Amino acid sequence: MESLRLQFPALAQGNLIYLDNAATTQKPNEVIDAMSQFYLRDNANVHRGAHRLSARATRAFEGARYQLAQFINAPKTEEVIFTRGTTDAMNLLASSLGKLTLQTGDTVLIDQWAHHASIVPWQQAAITAGASIKAIPMDGSGRLDTDAYRQLLTLKPKVVILTGVSNALGCRTDLAQFIAAAKLVEAITVVDGAQMVGHHPVDVQAISCDFFAFSGHKMYGPTGIGVLWGNSAMLNAMPPYQFGGEMIETVSFEHSSFNLLPFKFEAGTPAIAEAIGLGAAAQWLQRQNRDEVAAHEQRLLNYAQQQLRQLDGVTLYSAFDDNVGSLAFNINGEHHQDVGVWLDQAGIAIRCGHHCCQPLMASLQLKGTCRVSVAAYNTMAEIDAFIAAIKDYLEFVN
Ligand code: PLP
Repeated sequence: MESLRLQFPALAQGNLIYLDNAATTQKPNEVIDAMSQFYLRDNANVHRGAHRLSARATRAFEGARYQLAQFINAPKTEEVIFTRGTTDAMNLLASSLGKLTLQTGDTVLIDQWAHHASIVPWQQAAITAGASIKAIPMDGSGRLDTDAYRQLLTLKPKVVILTGVSNALGCRTDLAQFIAAAKLVEAITVVDGAQMVGHHPVDVQAISCDFFAFSGHKMYGPTGIGVLWGNSAMLNAMPPYQFGGEMIETVSFEHSSFNLLPFKFEAGTPAIAEAIGLGAAAQWLQRQNRDEVAAHEQRLLNYAQQQLRQLDGVTLYSAFDDNVGSLAFNINGEHHQDVGVWLDQAGIAIRCGHHCCQPLMASLQLKGTCRVSVAAYNTMAEIDAFIAAIKDYLEFVN
């Protein structure tokens, strides 16, 4: 992993142990170069220009869409909709699919560990339609409660929204089981894949969901770009989300008609450099030995869990062997923010707070937690330094 780490210029600065990867990952040279090359050589608007530069920009932009379709094994490239990120993808879906499917009295299921990016747009769609949101609770072990889920499915929800991997806890949803059960009641399934794509290969056909959303910046790509993948039959049936240039076919003052997929959902000039950067990130990830990277990250996480478990005064939350990317803990009697500031003084970056998961925090009766999240470039020595700083903190407060 040493040569991989060298590809990330931000990590070369001194006194930085970056363990806040679930918030955003650092970027490899290849992504930074792809974006700067676009601005240095190819900068032009896409799809409409008669000139060379525009043709080059369009090729690179649409090439990125193709790379992302490959990256998630989408059956059709036009099913890849560029969004600003997972939040934007969920807003698009909740607004557009909400209009298409939700009616008064309908139910939408969302899991207890969902990010606000899933909860709030669907809450608004439910209010508009007169539908209601029901939460899939956690069981006593800290996973989603499968019995309660089966019970909730008897309400015949129209849509089931599942967080593939919890950003607050790092634990994963058994998507195969949850989606199969949702299909039995003909619910539309939506997966928030924000914390999946950077860690394991994703195959939307194998997952068998109807929609899958993710953000570029959590998989070594740029901010301001993400993807909503959806089954084309449903995307075609859905009304447009935003209106303006690019998404139209014809416009008059009396009537407008709309473009085909994917453009129907991409109003206005897109984030061109960012899409190209995300395409480069997908290619970069696909070139890594992903099994090796996943095993490395799992070793780091399991080692950190095991070390924290041995410390008196530390509480871990939903820390399973198969967690992906993140672990959450608190130091008993201490505010999570104080722990974060202490670690920052030791050059260690983690995240503290509610992690945009206030309903989850409420169910755990917590105001917040400390979250350590790893990426491919982290090392055992960094975990050791983090544990040493936690031991110092415990000594300081006891
Ligand atoms: N869903 C999950 C699970 C996340 O971790 C995040 C980001 O933290 C989001 C959604 C929102 O992603 P973005 O802020 O990139 O739109």
